Amino acid sequence: MIQSGISLRLTGNKPKAFLSPISGSDEKGIYGTTTPELVTLIGKLIERRGGLSLASDDIYGLTASDRDRLAAALYRDIYGDRIDATLRCRSCESIFDIDFQLASLQKSLYREQPEASADETYQTPQGYVFRLPTSEDEIETSGAPQSDAYACLLEKILVDPCYQSLLSGSEARRREVVDAVESQLTRIAPIVDLEMNARCPECSTEQKVHFDLQRFFLERLLQDRRWLMHEIHMIANAYGWSLDNILSLSRRERKELANLIDDQRLVGRRWS
Ligand SMILES: [Zn+2]
Repeated sequence: MIQSGISLRLTGNKPKAFLSPISGSDEKGIYGTTTPELVTLIGKLIERRGGLSLASDDIYGLTASDRDRLAAALYRDIYGDRIDATLRCRSCESIFDIDFQLASLQKSLYREQPEASADETYQTPQGYVFRLPTSEDEIETSGAPQSDAYACLLEKILVDPCYQSLLSGSEARRREVVDAVESQLTRIAPIVDLEMNARCPECSTEQKVHFDLQRFFLERLLQDRRWLMHEIHMIANAYGWSLDNILSLSRRERKELANLIDDQRLVGRRWS
């Protein structure tokens, strides 16, 4: 799967990443929707193919934006490019569906190829110097209260000590620095965690909808757990294989076998 590799935009020395197929064992290892869960999952799937491709250990130093590209590629491989979501209208409370293509959404985000300075830092128009956040930065700040986590992350990536001291100044100045860096990050190293416009078909109210690929993807894998257990049960019954053997199958192989077993049962029922 993902045989041609995934191009990384912001990891100059490792321009490509390859991911092996997700297995039942990988799916069973997911317990939540946090960044550490996603980092662990992708880290397990990275397959090194030559010196210029990403290695498993590189996941912690990978920029959040490039990791998001890997998550999108993995989502697309498992579920396809189309995203369907069900929403509740904030005005009339009707339930309605929206759908969009993940690739188109990504294309609209990656509008420009950023150029870093020699030391891999970037600068806001106001002169604040920062580096791009990595998975390691995100994991270290993920324990902070949700309202503070993003600001903590942004403070962490400011590289000039004078700006670090500036952050200990007034709340207004701190806000100004955080906003300036956030705005640059959204432009040069975006992730699919954004506000989208949606219109309720019942009352025509336009509303903002938050879409976070990481949460959406991991929630979907967690919801699929019941199918995983069902498929394990079917394959164990049909072939007598051990749990470890079944969990080591790729998701695709497991589903194909479960479908074959199901088809055979239906044929058996028809002729009995
Ligand atoms: Zn409505």
